[in-house]
Amino acid sequence: PSFNSSYFEKKAKIWQKKYSRRRHLVKLLVLQDRNKRVLCPRSLESFTNWQKAQKSKAKYQAKAANQRRDYLHKLTTHLVKQYDVIAIEDLKTKNLQKNHHLAKSIANASWRMFRQMLEYKCEWYGKKLIAVDPKNTSRICSKCGYNSGAKPLEIREWTCSKCQTKHDRDINAAVNILHKGSTKLNGQGLAMVTS
Ligand SMILES: [Zn+2]
Repeated sequence: PSFNSSYFEKKAKIWQKKYSRRRHLVKLLVLQDRNKRVLCPRSLESFTNWQKAQKSKAKYQAKAANQRRDYLHKLTTHLVKQYDVIAIEDLKTKNLQKNHHLAKSIANASWRMFRQMLEYKCEWYGKKLIAVDPKNTSRICSKCGYNSGAKPLEIREWTCSKCQTKHDRDINAAVNILHKGSTKLNGQGLAMVTS
């Protein structure tokens, strides 16, 4: 199961929204008291509603993070035990960090964690991890090598205009990454078959 749409992730998002809304309202009330110079102005801390939301938010964020880590551990252990050589895209952390969108930053954190786990587990089990240049991996046809340019992310399938091969976007990119990894290994060939 994908961890981006998990139950905890959704709960965390809902509580994040409640927390922001409640805290904002309370801030307005506190400001109002101050502006009206009331005798006993209320403080932020005197309101428990937003603090409850903050705790729920933190609880679900932690649960979601734990679930992501567990998932990545299972996935990387499975991959490293099953394959002798694993090729991944060498995505630059600098580019990854540029995106401030929440879902993207979670994806970025997960990608970094995924890669770190692969690195040390490959070391433990004596397997080989090859990081390849991500350039053009989603643009090139894995069958004939023709570069048909960038495709928007929502396009999941496409047909090569040169050799007419029908591609699944992710599988085509994976095959290209494998080719690059293979070349990097100096033609030793990759054992990616299930044992
Ligand atoms: Zn082609």
